[in-house]
Amino acid sequence: QGPDPDIAVIAERFQDIGKKILVLSGKGGVGKSSVSTQLAYTLSRDPDVQVGLLDIDICGPSVPTLTGTMDEEVERTAQGWQPVYVGPDRNLAVMSIGYLLPSKNDAVIWRGPKKNGLIKQFLRDVYWSQLDYLIVDTPPGTSDEHMSIVQYLPDIDGAIIVTTPQEVALADVRKEINFCHKVGLPVIGVVENMSGFVCPNCDKVHQIFKPTSGGAAKMCADMDVPFLGAIPLDGVLTEACDKGSSWAEVAGDKPTGGPKALIDIAE
Ligand code: ADP
Repeated sequence: QGPDPDIAVIAERFQDIGKKILVLSGKGGVGKSSVSTQLAYTLSRDPDVQVGLLDIDICGPSVPTLTGTMDEEVERTAQGWQPVYVGPDRNLAVMSIGYLLPSKNDAVIWRGPKKNGLIKQFLRDVYWSQLDYLIVDTPPGTSDEHMSIVQYLPDIDGAIIVTTPQEVALADVRKEINFCHKVGLPVIGVVENMSGFVCPNCDKVHQIFKPTSGGAAKMCADMDVPFLGAIPLDGVLTEACDKGSSWAEVAGDKPTGGPKALIDIAE
């Protein structure tokens, strides 16, 4: 068997793509997709910055819901599948396997080789044009999708790992970090999500998981990986995610709480 010809096609596709960042989490429900999406929106606040958001969670794609694009039909042109453009300046390009599923409510149960083929096809066929950033939202844990993306996406800049403060979640983050080391993926850093709670009455952050908040920062120090910041539970983010929009559309341009944490992380 000779070299896979798709590898060269994919490499050419990704020539004009700037930073390629995978978003990982040890567990589901820690807010990985919300963080991926809101981070992509945060980066695209500058209209001159082109951002891509790729959802490769085949069994549970949530990016269409989080970007309010569930009913979009993706178009196939001579150049390839066209992403859906969102945000006030239409400079956030979104592509999800969710757009291609026959029924939005069907569960997808596919075995590894078929997932691998689909991810390869995605990378080969989506036409991103030029991007400054590509954020890739992955399924929780380390599964076939992760192996495929690491195998086919050339020169990934690194991974951001999202966790919650509790020790059970942190234990799985250590596994994610070890996975990154094993496949040679640089760890950009860890984000502690749902870290405290922004009280709607007093606007202060309360530590509801006391004394566990801050556990991720300590774990990062122990494992010698960067800690990127803590995002509190914030009603603005819940509302933005439920509406399928960016935090800026809900809160305006007054970043406090969760949005402020996202801006600090994006910088
Ligand atoms: P995962 O991708 O890890 O499974 P999701 O991103 O789907 O998790 O998040 C689960 C839910 O938690 C979403 O409905 C989202 O609105 C909410 N959520 C996530 N992070 C926050 C946060 N910091 N503040 C408020 N709500 C959040």
